[in-house]
Order: sequence, then structure tokens, then C-alpha cells
Amino acid sequence: DPQQVRLSAEILRSLEAAGHTACWVGGCVRDELIGRPVNDMDIATSARPEEVTGLFERTVPTGIEHGTVTVVMEKIPFEVTTFRTESDYKDFRRPEEVTFVRSLDEDLRRRDFTMNAIARRPDGEYVDPYGGRTDLAKGVIRCVGDARERFREDALRMLRGVRFASVFGFELEPRTWEAMLELRDNMRHIAAERIRAELEKMLGGTRPAEGLRLLERSGLLAEAKIRLTPQALASARPERLGALPPKPAELRWAALLQGLGVSGDEAETLLKSWTFSGGFAKSAAALLRIDARMGAGDLEAGAGKANEAEKAAVRAGEAGEEHAAGGERRKLSFVRCVLDFGRAAAENWLLYRSALNGEDEAAAARRESASAWLAEIPAESPRELALGGNEIVGRLSRKPGPWLGALIRQLLEGAAMGRFANEREALLAEIARLEEEKGMIE
Ligand code: ATP
Ligand code: MG
Repeated sequence: DPQQVRLSAEILRSLEAAGHTACWVGGCVRDELIGRPVNDMDIATSARPEEVTGLFERTVPTGIEHGTVTVVMEKIPFEVTTFRTESDYKDFRRPEEVTFVRSLDEDLRRRDFTMNAIARRPDGEYVDPYGGRTDLAKGVIRCVGDARERFREDALRMLRGVRFASVFGFELEPRTWEAMLELRDNMRHIAAERIRAELEKMLGGTRPAEGLRLLERSGLLAEAKIRLTPQALASARPERLGALPPKPAELRWAALLQGLGVSGDEAETLLKSWTFSGGFAKSAAALLRIDARMGAGDLEAGAGKANEAEKAAVRAGEAGEEHAAGGERRKLSFVRCVLDFGRAAAENWLLYRSALNGEDEAAAARRESASAWLAEIPAESPRELALGGNEIVGRLSRKPGPWLGALIRQLLEGAAMGRFANEREALLAEIARLEEEKGMIE
């Protein structure tokens, strides 16, 4: 983003004009060198936090004890961090305390990988004491200094290494890999939240399967707070993830859980224990629940001769009675899924199946009908029904009770099945019909 480049360059110039050293550093330098979209333009400087705060009009002390001040320029936030070292690593995690230093080289030395330890000065010149650019060109992930020492300091670095290897399609340099195998058990000290954040980036990248295979081969998460054992990963069919789009993120997480044998009912609790938000956990679980109900699990591309008869029926354009009845049953299951889990979950499921089933003709035909059904559903929730609960109660002169919810659900289902319109008169007529049929609404 040229605006970000311009504004961050302006910050660098102001810092240097005040006599400090300042440069771009870390992820943004790395991403720019390999031609990937840059997220945050992180700035490192010799200026102390209070000096940074004094130089700019709008600042936020976001992480001042770690030396980070956020400078806001034209409403865009930039993190400006004072050169620092880390010492006294405790419990295999990065320390709470940092020491500010005046030299860039010292700051680069504390960083995890050579490709993340490159700085770029305002004049465009690179400061790259560990050969990060060479490693980037070779596609190698290598620790700054001794891998064992670096991983012993902070175990999360191991998972970051796997994540970068997966996202960039890079190799882990042999000593870095060896150190990982040796120190993998230290991962158990790392908070689930930090593991989750790395896994999210990994699954959101272009090679999620490679990342999962590295986790399998390394056993990195075998004892971790998010536990993925090599045995579980070996049967998780990670290659399915690559067939799914990275967004919405629920799709790949659902595929991973499905591969691990986690059911829709178990998924919500599990994802919450992995520190996902309640909303995300629910929506990923809903996808799996719909998938279980719709029974599309055996229709995946390459999963064998799924439903040859059905395929033949589709090819013949069959409209036999049995086929039609099957279609109605399937429509009812689908409509119930939409009413139970919501349109968004149903849409996610359609995306999920469409990506996983690939070219399968029968599956494509089923998907198309489901899309059409979804488009025709006039109301998903009682609010959207053209008849309010109060009016129903008045009409039937009955005390509100559980029967009301059941009746509203029946009306929603009937309207969604296209048996009558979501219009006041039509709904009243349906209520009258139900009363006649059953004598009373149960
Ligand atoms: P991303 O693209 O995910 O933002 P990143 O490398 O920028 O990747 P950040 O967490 O934003 O990751 O960290 C910024 C920089 O801080 C890194 O490039 C690296 O130099 C340094 N860094 C981050 N985490 C660690 C760590 N655990 N140990 C050492 N250095 C780290
Ligand atoms: Mg970053």
C-alpha cells in the first residue's frame, strides 16, 4: 500500500531528523523481498519510547513496557519499537522484561529467523547481518545463531518456523529441524492462544497440508495445549484442506476436525478450548453438523464409486417417483438445517461440499438443488414470518406455551418447503388447515 509506505517513510525521516536511527524491520521487509503483500510496516528505532511519544502528534502507548509505541498518521497506525534485547527467558517463553539498546545489530540478534532479521534503512539500504536475503532466495528457514539455544529460549519459535515453511513453501534448514525434534516437548509450555494464532495463519496460507505434515513429522504439538498427535494427523487427510478456499476460515478448520474424527457435537467445545471465539466455534461446528445430517461425507472426489445409481439417474434426467421422493426428503433435511443453523452456515456448507466433491456429477447436481432451495427460503426465523406470535395466540384463543414455538417452526418449515407463501393469509389458512386436520394444534 503506497500510502503506508509513504507515511512510514515519513516516520523514519522524523526519527532520523531528531538524531535517532530508524528502519523498517521484520515481516514487512521479508514480505516485500519475496513479493508478498505486506501487512504492517513495523518500525524499529534507537529512540526510547518517551522520545518517540514526544516526536509525534498522535501516539498510543500500546506496548510501552516492551518499547512499542503506536504512531498514528492519517488514521493509519504504525508500531514503532525501540531497539531491544531479550534476556532471562523463563519457562520457555519470551520474557516480560526487555532491555533497550542503542544498536540495530543487537536488536536483530534477538529475532527468530534470518529472514525476519533484516532491516531496511530509510535510504533503501539493507542491514542483513545473518544472510537473511540469501536464505530467502534459497527458500530456507534458519535460526539466527544457534537453533537449539533459540528454541530453548522461546518454544513458540518452533511453531513459527513450521508456519513460515508452510505459508512460504520453504525448507527448514537441517540444524533448525534437528533442534525442533530435540526440543518439541517444550511446546507444552506455550499458551493455547499463541498456538492457535500460528495455526490460523498456517491454515489460512496456500499450503496448509504441508504445514500439517510438518506437524505430523515433527510431533511438535503432540503434547501441546492444542494437541495434534502424529497419529491423529496421519489419518487426517490434510490434502483436503488445500482443496478448500482459505476464507471463510471455518471451512478448513472444519475439514481438519472432520479428518481428526471430531464430530459436529464435539467441535464447538473443542474449538473454544483452543481459544477460538464462541461465534467461530459455533459456525465451524454448524458446518460439520450440517455435513453429518446431509450425509455428503462419502461423496468426495476420489472417495470411490459413490452412488453410481444416483449418478446414472442424474445423467438420465430421471424424474421417477422414487427419485422425486428422495429429493423431497433431502430438501426437508436441508431446509431443517437452514432453520436450525442459519443461512450463513448452510452457505458455508455448500462451499465446503462444492470444493471437496470437486467434479463429481451427482454431488454437483445435489449442490445445485440445495442452492436453489436456499435461495427460495422466504423466512429463516420467527421474526421473518409474516405472522406474529401474538396474532397466532389471539386467533387460536389459547394461552402461549411450547405449542406456539412448535407451530411457528412448522410454519417456517412449510413456507421454506414452498408448500405455501410467507404471507399473512396463506399462513392463517395453513393454521386453519392444521386445526382441522388434528382437531387441535399440539
Ligand atoms: P506475520 O507475517 O505473521 O506478521 P512476522 O514475522 O511479522 O509475521 P510478527 O509476530 O509480526 O511476525 O513479529 C514481527 C517480528 O518480530 C518478526 O519478523 C521477528 O523479527 C520478531 N519476532 C516475532 N516473534 C518472535 C519470537 N517469538 N522470537 C523472536 N523474534 C520474534
Ligand atoms: Mg508482522
